[in-house]
Amino acid sequence: MVSDVHSNREALEAVFHEIDAQGISQIWCLGDVVGYGPDPEFCADLIRARCMKTVRGNHDEALFAGAEHFNPFARDAIKFTKRRLQPRAEATQNDRERWEWLRTLPQTFRHAALLFVHGSPRDPVNEYVYPDDPDLLHGRKLAQLFDSVDLAAFCGHTHVPCVIRSDSTVFTPADSDNHFVLDPKFRHLVNVGSVGQPRDRDPRASWVELDGDTLVFHRTEYPFAITQAKIRREDMLDEILAARLSQGI
Ligand code: ZN
Repeated sequence: MVSDVHSNREALEAVFHEIDAQGISQIWCLGDVVGYGPDPEFCADLIRARCMKTVRGNHDEALFAGAEHFNPFARDAIKFTKRRLQPRAEATQNDRERWEWLRTLPQTFRHAALLFVHGSPRDPVNEYVYPDDPDLLHGRKLAQLFDSVDLAAFCGHTHVPCVIRSDSTVFTPADSDNHFVLDPKFRHLVNVGSVGQPRDRDPRASWVELDGDTLVFHRTEYPFAITQAKIRREDMLDEILAARLSQGI
């Protein structure tokens, strides 16, 4: 599972290289294919070609629904992305298909006892669930979050990898040597972190492998200096979007 690629070609290529090297056969994407980064066409085309399923992220949705509620640099990045992706008169067939694919991404999908969303099970595109959310200790939010979940829901959106269990226990990858076993006695919300803009102070791309009932949290190094240089060449992409990539914030 990959999520929050955010138009970061170098991170996506490095992750897919590692996925291929490990012989992983199915890739699922949890949204925010675009936004923030400099390579929306490349990332959307590669995700569309390689992923079994992709759900809609809030940045993907903002291309069509508007980005008025975003902060200024996220909003400008949506403007930049829309200018690059929205088909003009001279657009190719692939340009049009890419735009239509982004417009029609589903909010959720299910596979056996697994649910896939961008944000949360109760608000699949927009809700943030952070591992240190104090409301998680209160039963109501927890119950609502897990209401539609069988064994596990997978999400992204916060760019912070973790597992939140239905008994309100929270696990970070470091707690368990990057491995976690799904326990049928509980329900789980698994955040796979971000490929293209990690925010847990580790700049390496984050993704999660599911092997039977075992999750493996992976980190993949990539040449972020190349992505930063591309961002700095674009007037509409704020410096903060480049600077944060080397710090993982
Ligand atoms: Zn995101």
